Amino acid sequence: MEIFKTIAFLKKRVSELKTQGKLIGFVPTMGNLHAGHVSLVDAARLNSDYVITSIFVNPTQFGKNEDFSKYPRTFEEDIKKLKNTDAVFFPSIEELYPKEVLLFISESKISKVLCGKFRQNHFEGVLTIVNKLFNIINPDFAYFGEKDYQQLKLIEKMVFDLNMNLKIISCPIVREASGLAMSSRNNYLSLEGRKKAANIYKALNEAKTAFNDGVKDMFKLKELVLKTLNSDFKIQYIEILDTETFNTPLVIKPGSRIFVCAYLEGVRLIDNLVL
Ligand code: AMP
Repeated sequence: MEIFKTIAFLKKRVSELKTQGKLIGFVPTMGNLHAGHVSLVDAARLNSDYVITSIFVNPTQFGKNEDFSKYPRTFEEDIKKLKNTDAVFFPSIEELYPKEVLLFISESKISKVLCGKFRQNHFEGVLTIVNKLFNIINPDFAYFGEKDYQQLKLIEKMVFDLNMNLKIISCPIVREASGLAMSSRNNYLSLEGRKKAANIYKALNEAKTAFNDGVKDMFKLKELVLKTLNSDFKIQYIEILDTETFNTPLVIKPGSRIFVCAYLEGVRLIDNLVL
């Protein structure tokens, strides 16, 4: 495995590979890798000649009171999990942001609902870093998880609207045996909390089952989720949205998604499920 810390060396390597006609697959991550991240790398292996994984905890997507400084940084353990990666891009903050950041990519609709309502400028930070990484790596394919569904859709939109020259490949959510969606932030939970957190997936499934059984009332479906999460969780949002427009549908159609964000033991957890 090759490890690159500078943009210049990585660009040089990519340009050699491109001259040889190799297809580049790219998996952006913030590290503290788990089976969810590894599933993206495995997907990349299937259709790319050379797989690059980046590990960078991007400061511009964290709010002032969020967990940027305590976000787990576990590089040594991470690289052991990257068996299907040819290269790791592990830049410093100064390498990616040598100057004050005054230019951001922003989107004015999808980024304003769900997490965007509560995490000011989060998606501006995400779109900007992903755009920078795409410019540095120039990949043919980039892989994103449905765990961060809103992020995935925003990146697809950026690629389409800005005529970017790559294909975005979405990968399903990888879950623990309990159903809990894997996330680096699960590590902040106690053992007890981890068990309770599985109720999020249980609640989403209850809403899905009710929907399939004919319950089409938005309020009733949200109530079901709320009841299962009970007082253990502090709910930030429960929303059912059309996944193309991110509008609240007048009539909920199959293919809409239910999204939940809830705090448990002070840890912010998100999950979603297609109806
Ligand atoms: P992060 O390191 O949290 O920025 O995530 C990097 C990528 O991994 C993003 O595309 C995430 O959507 C994806 N990812 C994170 N958790 C999971 C999961 N449980 N299943 C599938 N993809 C995931």
